[in-house]
Amino acid sequence: MQMDVMWVIFLFALGACIGSFLNVVIYRMPRGQSIVFPASHCPTCGRAIQWYDNIPLLSWMRLKGKCRFCKASISPRYLLVEATTAILVGGLFVCYYLLDIRDGAGTLSQSWPMFAAHAVLLCALFACAIIDIEHWIVPLEVCWFASLVGIASATAAPHGWMPPVSPSIGAMSLGAVAGLGISLLLMRYGLIQQSFLDADETAVNADNEKHGKKSKKGKNRKSVAITKDHGVNPRTEVLRELIFLAPPIAGALTAYLLVTRVEAIEKAWSFLTASAMHEKWSYASYLNGLLSGLFGYLLGGALVWGMRILGTLGFGKEAMGMGDVHILAAVGAVCGWIVPSIAFFVAPFFGLIWAIYLLLGRNQRELPYGPWLAAASLAVMLFYDGFRELLRPYGVALGLFAR
Ligand SMILES: [Zn+2]
Repeated sequence: MQMDVMWVIFLFALGACIGSFLNVVIYRMPRGQSIVFPASHCPTCGRAIQWYDNIPLLSWMRLKGKCRFCKASISPRYLLVEATTAILVGGLFVCYYLLDIRDGAGTLSQSWPMFAAHAVLLCALFACAIIDIEHWIVPLEVCWFASLVGIASATAAPHGWMPPVSPSIGAMSLGAVAGLGISLLLMRYGLIQQSFLDADETAVNADNEKHGKKSKKGKNRKSVAITKDHGVNPRTEVLRELIFLAPPIAGALTAYLLVTRVEAIEKAWSFLTASAMHEKWSYASYLNGLLSGLFGYLLGGALVWGMRILGTLGFGKEAMGMGDVHILAAVGAVCGWIVPSIAFFVAPFFGLIWAIYLLLGRNQRELPYGPWLAAASLAVMLFYDGFRELLRPYGVALGLFAR
């Protein structure tokens, strides 16, 4: 018990420190500045902030939100971000290990890689949500980082909490990842083109101003939905995305045919993925952990990307951003396929509640979709056990649980 209290205090303090770093990410990343250099300084007088004035939570309160030198006020947002991150990280520990809301979580020493990955995901989602609300963009690098941590922890902690996937779905995931690599290489060498690149930047910026959104730096970082008024046809732009997606889809199909139609490969694959056969040093369970992380990443991304393609074709204007694709992909990489599948359907309800609030209050600001995806993911992570039981019959029907 005493140990638990120590952990809560430690993780709360650690969360505050991470929040302090998130403040840097939230301020600098959308402005195209480096997040490591230069060191923190007062934006008004430019003087470097000393370490003793940079202690999360405490320094802001002691200085009463003012710069020590020029007395310029420092936004309470810094304090709020630090406090929220502290509550997210400390609260996750309380929910998982003290309130025991997750079946099979065990103790921290048993499942710490999973806990760490989930905490990293919450911090990443929080930073993405704030940046999306303020600038209408999602920093893809933050999503990539969370995805990598998720796949690494899924691989390293195979007895953790990742929902298992069947061998054939695992093979398809590997095939799709190989195809994704091919697409990225083709794009790098200019053989396929990114979509919406030719959108007229002055027209986009003018529209951003009109909607009170801050203009972005760099290409393909747009915050308004692109329509024909911006000099491109969204319906044909989507074709570029379909070309990009062709290799991953072909890769998944090829892998599926190989492990179901070619007997030698089928045998070898089921030997590799059957964890029961390697009790002592179960590399198979590492492989299965990796596969469940990859499948979660792909399914999370595919749900939003599919919606984006259908919506853009249907309405003739850009629907859902690529940032949203990366957000749900990261959720899938960290939590496995179940959380993004449910969050995808829960998020619109969160958005709806906000829409009603907008109707009642007037003059309130419209919000991007990323924060709703993030909030829905958090809700599903917390009520995971109930949702999983609800979905189990469908999962079995799809062969997702088959093992
Ligand atoms: Zn100052």
